[in-house]
Amino acid sequence: MKQAIHPVYHSQEIVCGTCGTAWKIGSTRANLRVNICANCHPFYTGEQRSIIDTEGQVDRFMKRLQTSQERQAREAERRSAKNAPKPKKKSLLEEIYGEEAAAEATSDAG
Ligand SMILES: [Zn+2]
Repeated sequence: MKQAIHPVYHSQEIVCGTCGTAWKIGSTRANLRVNICANCHPFYTGEQRSIIDTEGQVDRFMKRLQTSQERQAREAERRSAKNAPKPKKKSLLEEIYGEEAAAEATSDAG
């Protein structure tokens, strides 16, 4: 091995800042640290991290969702009321002569 051309090789531990797990590792860089590792990363652990709502975006979304659902319910109610069968209008004969006379007139015609 030639002298003074090789970088310094450190035998050290690499430490996870989140869970504190340490591995023995060899590297030319000293003081290696990681923020997250396979022991604590949600992808490897399978745990779902809860949503961190810093700006109230989830609350705003839920409010908008509720408003939208209420509006849709009102629209559906209005639509069903509009499509409901209307009460039958009296014919002109019934209005003028009463129901018996109108029935008599239609039976005479038929
Ligand atoms: Zn970790």
